[in-house]
Formats: sequence, C-alpha cells, structure tokens
Amino acid sequence: MPGRRPLLETSPSRIGHDRAGREHSQPRGGAIKPRRAARPLGATHKEVPMARYVLPDLEYDFGALEPHISGHIMELHHGKHHKTYVDKANETLEQMDEGRQKRDFSRIASLEKALAFNLSGHVLHSIFWKNMRPKGGDRPKGELAHAIERDFGGFEAFKAQLTEVSATVMGSGWGALVYEPIAQRLLTCQIYDHQSNLSQGGIALLVIDAWEHAYYLQYKNQKTAFFQAVWNTWNWDDIEARFHAARKVNLLVPHAAEPERTA
Ligand code: MN
Repeated sequence: MPGRRPLLETSPSRIGHDRAGREHSQPRGGAIKPRRAARPLGATHKEVPMARYVLPDLEYDFGALEPHISGHIMELHHGKHHKTYVDKANETLEQMDEGRQKRDFSRIASLEKALAFNLSGHVLHSIFWKNMRPKGGDRPKGELAHAIERDFGGFEAFKAQLTEVSATVMGSGWGALVYEPIAQRLLTCQIYDHQSNLSQGGIALLVIDAWEHAYYLQYKNQKTAFFQAVWNTWNWDDIEARFHAARKVNLLVPHAAEPERTA
C-alpha cells in the first residue's frame, strides 16, 4: 500500500533553506512547500517562495477497483496521464516566474491557458481517485442524501442526470456534482477538458472522468457501460466530507439568491 501524500510537495527530502539557513519545510499535510528559484535573480526581482504540485499516491492498489475499472487503466491513468498534468502545471509556473523576472509577458496568455488546463487536470484527478474506493457504491446518507433529495428530487433522478451529463460530454471532459455556494445548492456540471464550462464558485464534490483514456482500453466504444459501472466505486464518505467542507465556503455576495438559506 503506497503512502499518502498531499497534493503539494512537503517531502522532507526536498527541504529548502533560505539565506539565513532556516528550513522551509512545513509539517506533513501542510498546504505549501516553498522553495527558492534556483536561477540567477535580477537585482530588482523579489524572491517568491513557490509551491510545487505533486502526484498523490492512490490509497488503494491499481487493481482494487476491478471489475469496474481495470488495473491497467488505473496504472496508466494515474502514473502517466495524471502525472503529466502535475509536471506541466509546475513547468508552467516556472515559465511564468522566468518571464516575470525578465518582465517579459509575451507568453503570458498561453501560459495562463496551460496553467488552467494542467492545474485543473491535477485537481480533478486528485478528487476522482479519492471519490472511489474498493467495494464502493451504494448511496449517500445523512445531510448529503437530504440535499440530493431536495435539489434533484431523489437519488435515482440525480444518478440518471449525472450519468447522462457524463456520457454526453462532447470531446474530452468530465461530469461533476458541484456545490454552488451562493444559492447553497447542488448542481451537476459538464466540464470541457478540465477547466471550462464550470460556474464560478462551484466546488466539485464528485467527478467522473469522461476522457477516452478513462475507459477505452476496457470498454472500447461502450462508454455508457463505464458511466454505469463507476457508480459501483463511489466512496460516499469522501463525497460527504467534501460536501460538509464546501458548505463552509462563503463568497461574501449576499442577496444574490433567494430564498436565502442559513446552512
Ligand atoms: Mn483522466
């Protein structure tokens, strides 16, 4: 069983030191691993501690979601596809840093596009792995079940909608259950690539990878079978925990929905 790692680097092996020799490392589970840029710095450039994104280990074996998702798919999906998004997000931030040092922003628009794509890919895959578990499935309980009932009219209606949302993505993308903090309600969402077509403020609770790389080796063109099978892998404890965390978000834009909810 691989060890757990946070999404941002906190590995003691990469502890950095500032000029006074103090370590930058933070306790395990901390959000940011600062480091100093290694390249020569211009006299006027302010050093900025940079966090690096890292590939989190899976909390189960590659084959643990079979027969619903094959171990071969999981190994490639996590170790190749997801890792590439992590690496590219870090590379893009480094390129932004280089440009900023030179005050050369000629590539900034394409770098912003690359960052949105790769960082969003990292976020969604990291959530997706945690949304699943061996012997998962069943249904949510408690307050999440109540919210699904309230906002979709029942679990079966929600399941049918999110399955269809995922199966009808044009091109590459994701189906998602999101929490919308202004009206304090649940919504489904079709995400194009990794980063488009999301409502601002929407927080992903449950995501379904609808890229061909998520299913093609096993399901070929029978993608609807994949979008059905994935319901046997859901870790509702994780999804419920995300729901409770998301409900604490306050965008500080009052009077933007009615009726106003207090919780
Ligand atoms: Mn993917």
